[in-house]
Amino acid sequence: MILIAGVGYPHLRDMSLGPVLIERLQHNDWPQGVEIADLSYGAIGVLQDLDNRAPYERIIFVAGVKCDRPPGTLHCYRWEHQLPDVDAIQARVAEAMMGVISLEHLLVIATYFGKLPRDVVVIEVEAADDTWGEGLTPAVLAIGSCATWGGIPAAVGSPTGAMGLEAYLGRDFLSRAGLPIINVPGCAPPGEAFIETVISICLHLAQMVPLELDEERRPRWLYSTLAHPLPPRTDYLPAQVYEVVDRPGVGCPVPVQGWMNRIGGCAHVGGACIGCTARDFADRYLEFAAPRAPGASLQGV
Ligand code: SF4
Repeated sequence: MILIAGVGYPHLRDMSLGPVLIERLQHNDWPQGVEIADLSYGAIGVLQDLDNRAPYERIIFVAGVKCDRPPGTLHCYRWEHQLPDVDAIQARVAEAMMGVISLEHLLVIATYFGKLPRDVVVIEVEAADDTWGEGLTPAVLAIGSCATWGGIPAAVGSPTGAMGLEAYLGRDFLSRAGLPIINVPGCAPPGEAFIETVISICLHLAQMVPLELDEERRPRWLYSTLAHPLPPRTDYLPAQVYEVVDRPGVGCPVPVQGWMNRIGGCAHVGGACIGCTARDFADRYLEFAAPRAPGASLQGV
């Protein structure tokens, strides 16, 4: 039997990672022999609980911690069953009996009383915020052209006052995890681009990969291929202007990823590209919101 157990305070922001994660894991189907449990109560109570459970070959503990590491650091290690001196153990027992919930207390006390299997893995995430409150520290991700640059609702002449997240929060905005706003523009961007970005942010917060953003704070690898916007189609231009040569390009994941699984997508199948990943694309490539003089040239197309 394997036990995956969360430990933490339920309403202490990032310190509640253990119970929050367990609550989500409990919705998944797990193979036979794997149990999920929230052990977010005093270590003495957990000892009694472990007595009533089937013996485990392995326990995996997950918790948010405050250990002076950079926020978001993922620290995974095997518990070596090393104990402090008896006075220190006694002090931890006293704190646990007073209601202190701590993974370290639990590890020490349960080891002392012989309640843990030999194989214990600990996964800790360094908390950025350990104040009272609900929810974990967010990273801020803007998905789609409206969330990033404002999109069509923010085009010149629009009365909506709409704007992108960066304009609203400020270019210097940093989330509690110390990350800038990460932009994934497109109308809409491929789902794979979104998933890749989320995974990359998680790996970055775990200090496993650098944050690869371009000057527009887009995932660099996703927006390094060019798509070539067409002129406004309402102008019925002759076919030769649709040549790609010399037409300015915009970074876009669709030429490589398609809409899904490399299938479909405007640029991928030779369809009309309206440059939707570009900042101000509605003004630059569509121009349907701004008034234009009759016969005006298609500047910049
Ligand atoms: S190919 Fe053009 S229109 Fe299509 S998603 Fe990319 S930038 Fe937008």
